[in-house]
Amino acid sequence: MAFAHKLAWAAALTLACQGGQAAPADQPITEFNCSSCKEWNAPQKPFNIYGNTWYVGTAELSALLITSPKGHILLDGALPQSAPLIEKNIKALGFKLKDVKLIVNSHEHFDHAGGIAALQRRSGAIVAASAIGARVLQAGVIGKDDLQYQPDQDPRIDKVPKVQVVGEGETLAVGGLALTAHMTPGHAPGGTTWTWTSCEHGRCLDMVYADSLTPVSADSFRFTEAPAAVAALRASIAKVAALKCDVVVSTHPGFTDVMAKLQARKGDTNPFIDAEGCRNYAAGATKRLDERLASESANGALPKK
Ligand SMILES: [Zn+2]
Repeated sequence: MAFAHKLAWAAALTLACQGGQAAPADQPITEFNCSSCKEWNAPQKPFNIYGNTWYVGTAELSALLITSPKGHILLDGALPQSAPLIEKNIKALGFKLKDVKLIVNSHEHFDHAGGIAALQRRSGAIVAASAIGARVLQAGVIGKDDLQYQPDQDPRIDKVPKVQVVGEGETLAVGGLALTAHMTPGHAPGGTTWTWTSCEHGRCLDMVYADSLTPVSADSFRFTEAPAAVAALRASIAKVAALKCDVVVSTHPGFTDVMAKLQARKGDTNPFIDAEGCRNYAAGATKRLDERLASESANGALPKK
């Protein structure tokens, strides 16, 4: 599948999941109100990305574990119903959920933040997010500043009682691990890309967990009428492209070909190491945004879902 096609596919699915019935706290988001969630939440065997960085997410929703002898960091919690799968994956790798000391979020949408509350309760970890992300995690509902906001939306995110706020360039430490926040608003107002270093046999690489950069919105929103929204997304795309980046994993693994790279991994060859990974991801995001703008201009309406 071409990258743009994959982005369009994911954008349509994400948007499709915005309507429907309210889900009570800790209840799975069901097929009734999210036709794609079952597919997104298909189990995935955990695997190593590089060094102490592991993929512990589901088939189509990323979650990463960065490990140390003095505690681990978990990036994202996927859907509420993903939490048991993520816990199982952490155990399958020989690690303990109780050793997760910090959970961070890429952005405050139900498919990346929905499982955080359950994983926090089970681990006792500190949860950290951008200021807007923290506000949404604590409120359990996205704000009017989110392009996907709809007045009749679901309270999709299980509330997280306490969230530590991180700012641009701030680094969070767990044991010897150091995780840095880069604000990448656009897809979601609290969007955050995270960077750290992982080493293998003395070779240390720049790791990136890149936030979603897709122009997904409520039906009534027009990017062509919102230059600030376009500028924010373009600035975040440029920021991701400019990061020191040897290995990139995106919030939906398909955006950065995670499963294809896993399949191609053989012997000493690690396809996750890709100096062009962040720039390619950014280029695909620019293409998708340009297509959205062209489509709005041509049709005066959003692309057909
Ligand atoms: Zn999203």
